[in-house]
Amino acid sequence: MVEGLAAAVALIALLRSNYETTEFVRFGSLLGLAILQAELSRSVERLRRTLCDRPHINMTSVWTFAGVLVLPQGLALALGLLIYLHLWLRVWRGMSHRPAYRVVYCAAAIVISCLASGAIVSGRNGLPVGFAGSLKIVEAAAVFTVVNAFIVALSVYLHTGARSPRALFGTGDDNLLEITTLVLGTSTALGIVHAPALVPFVLLPVLVLHRSVLVRQLEIAANIDGKTGVLNAHAWHALSERELTSAARAKSKLGVLMLDLDHFKQVNDVYGHLAGDVVLKAVAKTISEHVRDYDSVGRFGGEEFVVLLPGATETDVLPVAERVRRAVMALEVEVATASGPRVVRGLSVSIGAAVYPSGGTVLERLLHVADSALYQAKNSGRNRVVALAAA
Ligand code: GH3
Ligand code: MG
Ligand code: MG
Repeated sequence: MVEGLAAAVALIALLRSNYETTEFVRFGSLLGLAILQAELSRSVERLRRTLCDRPHINMTSVWTFAGVLVLPQGLALALGLLIYLHLWLRVWRGMSHRPAYRVVYCAAAIVISCLASGAIVSGRNGLPVGFAGSLKIVEAAAVFTVVNAFIVALSVYLHTGARSPRALFGTGDDNLLEITTLVLGTSTALGIVHAPALVPFVLLPVLVLHRSVLVRQLEIAANIDGKTGVLNAHAWHALSERELTSAARAKSKLGVLMLDLDHFKQVNDVYGHLAGDVVLKAVAKTISEHVRDYDSVGRFGGEEFVVLLPGATETDVLPVAERVRRAVMALEVEVATASGPRVVRGLSVSIGAAVYPSGGTVLERLLHVADSALYQAKNSGRNRVVALAAA
């Protein structure tokens, strides 16, 4: 529906008017700059999309929003479509994260956003002037952002069923970035009308902004375990050290759980290693869902996980660990195997628990105690929780 609507309005708008030479020159300049920017940041964009393809971040709005402000609607829509066509051909094609249907959908979202904000400011009449004119531009930018956000949220919802505002509409940072691209788009439009020779300089902030997004994504990627999506061992350690320091200062308690799946080797043997990976991911998700938002789940390696429970006392950790243990027992994971799809059930996990300060006052000691508890849980029959005060 989104794509059909976009194609229809783009065609109608394009055919409805005659264009003047200046309009074609502006169109050509914006398209040229967009292509130059995409060419100069090809490697950044490919790396960024490989790392984590969040749908909320999009640098093309700089050019498409400038198009809305200075071009007649038909040319503004054509600009959006050509920018996406170029990105597809030169940057995204062949990337598994960026299948053609997603690119088409994003292009359609941009076309509809351009159209909606073009209803407020039409580039044909020149840039709006004065205070009232500035307000109109802000209004157009707001409409552009909101329409685009809802179309992206619709696709995220349909594909993942996610409901949290963060998943649907992106983080605060994502939205700040989107607004920044619209600010740059407005500067570009002002430049095109009042000082065309300065317009190429807009490339610099756009390139730097694009790079800053990559840096942020690298930061996130460096802390996350790629296979399961929970914290990696390094990040979990760093975070736990900080939490332990604040627990010491606040004289509060803190729980540590160490989990190891039971007979996990058999899952690999029966269903294959790839299916084992899918199960690990499902287990990580289950653990995360059964602890509080401010508890931190990490993967220590293999099929071993750790959970940090700030503020949890000796009486708190056992019920939490029990809840996680039961949730893992109830888990059913659909996996693909050489002989077709199958469901893995009957999983179980052994859990060792320790609490600061009774189990130890430094992280290494606490982990050691939790590990001993885990060892006892394994030795006394698996699929159970053991808590130790000290090793
Ligand atoms: P138990 O813990 O109950 O003693 O038995 P286990 O079979 O789980 O033994 P252990 O904890 O030593 O298991 C490690 C096994 O986990 C070995 C390997 O087959 C599997 N494994 C470790 N890391 C991964 C991984 O990243 N992916 C997959 N699929 N399997 C893994
Ligand atoms: Mg195991
Ligand atoms: Mg193990």
